[in-house]
Amino acid sequence: MGNTAIVGINWGDEGKGRMVDLLTEDYDIVVRYQGGGNAGHTVINEYGKFALHLLPSGIFRKGVVNILGNGVALDPENLWKEMQEVSGKGVPITPENLKISDRASLLLPWHRELDCLEENRLKDRKYGSTKQGIAPFYSDKYQKKTILAGELLHPEHLKEHLKDLLEWKNLTITGVYGETPIALDDLYAWFDDYCEKIKPFICNTGLFLRDAQNGGKKILFEAQLGALRDLDYGIYPYTTSSNAIAAYAPVGSGLPSAKIDEVIGVVKAYSTCVGEGPFVCEMFGEEAEALRTAGAEYGAKTGRPRRVGPIDLVATRYGVQVQAATNIALTKLDVLSYMEKIPVCTRYVVDGVETDEFPFPTALQNARPVVEYLDGWQCDISGVRRWEELPAAAQRYVTYVEQQIGCRIGYVSVGPERDSIIIR
Ligand code: GDP
Repeated sequence: MGNTAIVGINWGDEGKGRMVDLLTEDYDIVVRYQGGGNAGHTVINEYGKFALHLLPSGIFRKGVVNILGNGVALDPENLWKEMQEVSGKGVPITPENLKISDRASLLLPWHRELDCLEENRLKDRKYGSTKQGIAPFYSDKYQKKTILAGELLHPEHLKEHLKDLLEWKNLTITGVYGETPIALDDLYAWFDDYCEKIKPFICNTGLFLRDAQNGGKKILFEAQLGALRDLDYGIYPYTTSSNAIAAYAPVGSGLPSAKIDEVIGVVKAYSTCVGEGPFVCEMFGEEAEALRTAGAEYGAKTGRPRRVGPIDLVATRYGVQVQAATNIALTKLDVLSYMEKIPVCTRYVVDGVETDEFPFPTALQNARPVVEYLDGWQCDISGVRRWEELPAAAQRYVTYVEQQIGCRIGYVSVGPERDSIIIR
């Protein structure tokens, strides 16, 4: 396969980072095409354990070129800190293996500030933002009120542009929220502190990718959040502010002519959801606590306990469809090993009517899950590497999910480490 996208099928945290880390062996280039540092991809490999926020997960592989595409929310401060952290553990990061698109827009200090101010204003109606400035950033990008990374290479123009932007942004900070305006010198100082550091990594990555494509290189496109958080197809407004789906990968990566040959959708063997918004299959009480503990379900970026539930076949089938997934990686099957009977959400009841269609976001508030049970296997499967060695009940669980969601499950993950995988 030439071009592959790895995407989340559900609410995120499905284990995409772990899958990209595994698959990068077969690819020359890994591109992050959307989102910012508001999620965390956990990767465990020979260098240690990492929660990657902005860096593409191919950063650990020798010879792989990692690209931050034009679709990402490029936060120079967080990116630089992350680069320091990762390179501090012995992972080389140079302009040879990390390239930042000159067309990526910069997430600026006021984006984080405005994110916090708006969530505070909303109080108990808040969206559950990670307060990383992503929503204010994308709003400004579409208003053409941010800075492109390539502008860092034109310092005189940049100074003037910043001045104009700040004058405009301070109107909101002072007028709407009644806060103190940001001083231009502080803004310039922030640029000196962080943007200068990432400057050597900025280049025309579109050109690089076109050359790579013409040279027959294999490209992996990495999504940051799951389908249900996609701005257009997710559980709006509890979505992220960009398109996480595979169809956006060519646009956000800087290679609009790319044809994606394979879309690998990552699905967790049960459901989790961080933050606010409808989560139809949510479990509560002791049952939820047991699953949360078994799966160590706490956010990689925020440490927040994740909401948990059984696998949601209605949402997953929808996720598979909007991603146009051609292959599924089912992760964390090992976590279910303690269960005698495994709950699965097979349908929803919406206003008294059973359905297997994923409803319009507003209707999700009134949806109730229909839960059925499959037999558990109740033994440790984390050492299993071959399909034939999986207990029959575990095989049945996988094939049942496969049949229900309408897509082949080609990978079954039974542990967080790189090699804890069964390839079918
Ligand atoms: P991502 O954002 O989609 O990459 O997912 P996260 O990194 O937020 O969450 C996935 C978590 O599950 C991480 O802690 C991984 O180390 C862990 N993980 C991934 N696959 C498996 C698996 O098959 N079994 C177990 N037990 N843990 C896994």
